[in-house]
This record gives sequence, C-alpha cells and structure tokens, in this order.
Amino acid sequence: MEDAEIAREFQSNGMKKWFYILSTGLVLTSLVLSGCQSTGGATPAKKNIVVTYSVLGALVKDLVSDKAVVIVPMPNGQDPHDWDPSAKDIETINKADLVVQNGLGLEGGMEKTLATAESSGVKFFTASDHITVRHVGQGEGIPSGDPDQTIGASDPHLWMDPLSIKSVVTALADELKKDFNLDVSGQVADLEKRLDNLNKQVVDIVAAIPQADRKLVTGHESMGYFAQRYGFKLVGVIIPSLTSQAEVSAADLAELKKTILQSQVKAIFTELGTSPAVADTIGKETGVKVVELATHVLPSDGSYFTFMSDIAQVIADGLK
Ligand SMILES: [Zn+2]
Repeated sequence: MEDAEIAREFQSNGMKKWFYILSTGLVLTSLVLSGCQSTGGATPAKKNIVVTYSVLGALVKDLVSDKAVVIVPMPNGQDPHDWDPSAKDIETINKADLVVQNGLGLEGGMEKTLATAESSGVKFFTASDHITVRHVGQGEGIPSGDPDQTIGASDPHLWMDPLSIKSVVTALADELKKDFNLDVSGQVADLEKRLDNLNKQVVDIVAAIPQADRKLVTGHESMGYFAQRYGFKLVGVIIPSLTSQAEVSAADLAELKKTILQSQVKAIFTELGTSPAVADTIGKETGVKVVELATHVLPSDGSYFTFMSDIAQVIADGLK
C-alpha cells in the first residue's frame, strides 16, 4: 500500500513538474516571439504631428504625405480665433511629437493648452516665425480701442499669401529633417512649385478687377497678407479687429457705413464669426452687395490650393 501511494505521489508530482515545464516553455516561447515582432526588422512608429487649424493642417499633410501622422484636433469650420480644445484634444496635444501652430495670437482659445504643452517639453514649430510678419497700417479701419488691435499690431492671417506659406513649408521641411530625420525633400520641392503656380493663378484671377475697385471690406481684418501681395486696399471691417472675437460698437458701424459710401466699394465680404444680420443691415443701408468669403474654412476637397483659388475667384466676381 505504502509503495503504491509513493508511486502515485511521484506520478502526480511528475505530472505537475511536466505541466510546469511545458507551460513555462510556452510562456518563454511566446515572449521570444512577441519580442521578435516588436524589434525584429519592423519599421519604427510614425511621428504624430498635431496642427492647430485646418488650413495649415492641409499643407502639413501635403508636406509629410504618409511619412508621419497629421492630426488636426479643431474640426474644419470652427473658428480658429476662439476654438476651445476638449480634455481629449489636450491629451492629443500633450502626446504630440511635434505641434505646428500659427502663432501671433491666432489660437486664442488654445493659448493656455499650447503654453502648458510647450513648457512640459513638447516640441513646437511656429509658422509665423518663418515669414515677414505684416503689421496693421494707418487707415486700415481698425480704431484704437483694443490695445492689441491698434496700428502696428501683428497680423496672424499669414495663410492668405501663398508665398508666405511657401516660406513656412520650406522651414518645416528643414525642421523635420533636423529633429526627426524625416526626409520630405521630394514633397517640399513639389509643394514649393505648386505654391509658386498658385501665386501666379491668383495674380491671373484678380487681374480682371480694375485697380480702382481693388478695395476690401471684410468681416474682420483677415485679408491683410492677401491685400499686400495682390495690390488691394483694406478699406474697412465689420468687426474692427484682427480677430473675429472683438466687440463692435454702434459708432464703429456708423463710421464703416460712411467709409463704404465714400470709397464706393463694390462688395462687403462676410466671414466665419461675422454676424449675418449686421452684414445684411450694412449692405441694405449702403446698397452694397454682401458676399460670403471662406477665409478660415477649407473647401470640401480639403485642399489649400482650392481654398486660395476659390477666395481669389469670389473676390474677383464680387468686385468686377
Ligand atoms: Zn481671422
């Protein structure tokens, strides 16, 4: 009996031991296999580039193609001057390998989030660091109420000039090479050529507008870079500011109506963030047509090139 019991115990221990050896072997094998999967010859993970608004995002996508992941947390159609990121968007920004921002106060609602991310070590590329910044000039229709919006204030709407954008993409390509060893030399050469062609295309489109009619009245002061590049005069704005988020006084509107009548402008261009009711009232009281202009929103094909040529065409049609 005793011998038989010892034998059973031995068998059972032996089984347990074999089971242990087998299962350990399986675990080890699977560890080795998974180790092979993560290190053995696989391509390194793509970098995450977060861009603060859609128009700049379209250009960064053209530049990096499939060599990096481009994320634009702000939905197209929202106003970049005041869009407020959610907790999830803030997490996306904090986890970015690189944040591409416009700068010059454009990202009004994101300022705190962006500053916090930068101070915690997230890399940043600021588009406005790579262009010749335009400053608000004398007689451009911005009265001296808000100290940030007076003559000499820096204009953030740099995407309204394809050649400023060309400087931005060239600088970003250099930075991607330097910081991430990401070679986009083929794409940047192509993009620079397309931006030169776009500039020529806009010149051709606006050529139809007589010099005397190249006067712009817009929702807020967003067309300064365009005006500077293509020979337009900024006559007045409904919201007297570089942002769509400023107050409008009755006195400002009365002044604007006077300016519109005196300068004989052909159209009033409204934008994202402009009150349609206010624009329509000014239009009716001055007898000038009101035309919508998509200055902060991408067209349905998501292309910067369509965006700019559409703007030029709407302006040409409105002022002819
Ligand atoms: Zn704007």
